[in-house]
Amino acid sequence: MVDKYIPKYPLIWGTDDFFIKIFCSIPNIATGIILKTGKTNFVIDPGDGILRDLNKEIGPAGIMNISHIFISHGHHDHVGGVWSLFTYLSVMNRTAPLHIHYPKGCKEIESIHRAFHEVYGNELTYKIHLERIVDESPMPISDLTILPFHVNHREKVEGSSESNLVPSLGFKFVYKDQSICYGGDTAYCDKLVKMVIDSDLAIIEAGAADETDTDLHMTQKQAIEIGRLAKEFFLVHVPE
Ligand SMILES: [Zn+2]
Repeated sequence: MVDKYIPKYPLIWGTDDFFIKIFCSIPNIATGIILKTGKTNFVIDPGDGILRDLNKEIGPAGIMNISHIFISHGHHDHVGGVWSLFTYLSVMNRTAPLHIHYPKGCKEIESIHRAFHEVYGNELTYKIHLERIVDESPMPISDLTILPFHVNHREKVEGSSESNLVPSLGFKFVYKDQSICYGGDTAYCDKLVKMVIDSDLAIIEAGAADETDTDLHMTQKQAIEIGRLAKEFFLVHVPE
């Protein structure tokens, strides 16, 4: 049994023009990630606290420059900051459109969007484009190509031993000859293994509390085995 590793956030990786910072990724609390290239500021899984972290990292002008948000799945620790981000951009009189990419079937994003329009629709200064991802087609955006892929994230059915599949994606971000593979939340799955191979950086969840939890999350041992298929890796989403 290896000692449990607890990540020390923020986790940072990058070169001058391809950079990622994981502000945090704590199960049931929050995830928040920024990805930067020379031309873009992308946000991945804006959980609670994302606005505070972005403000510190890139300031108001940088936040106004965010063009695309990527959502791995709709659990609250991955989408809890969406409402405040939407509202902040309106208060700041943004005019450029904002694109939010999320897996087909993710009710949370569509519900937040619908409710947001109900409350602020009349005074909204910018357009929010819901970009539902239905398959694994490559997405060329700005100076990157994003490869979405389906992962195996389940949630327990209350009062039963059953679990349901959550609409969930991982994303591989390819920039020039470099790539970062973010698996989101997932139990072990072959697709993740395939996408991690030869990535420059893999970001792998290790959320299983113990061996009985492996239908829902990966153990540290599983996550490390997959991570080693990339040139470097971070373990995230480790219960504290
Ligand atoms: Zn989750």
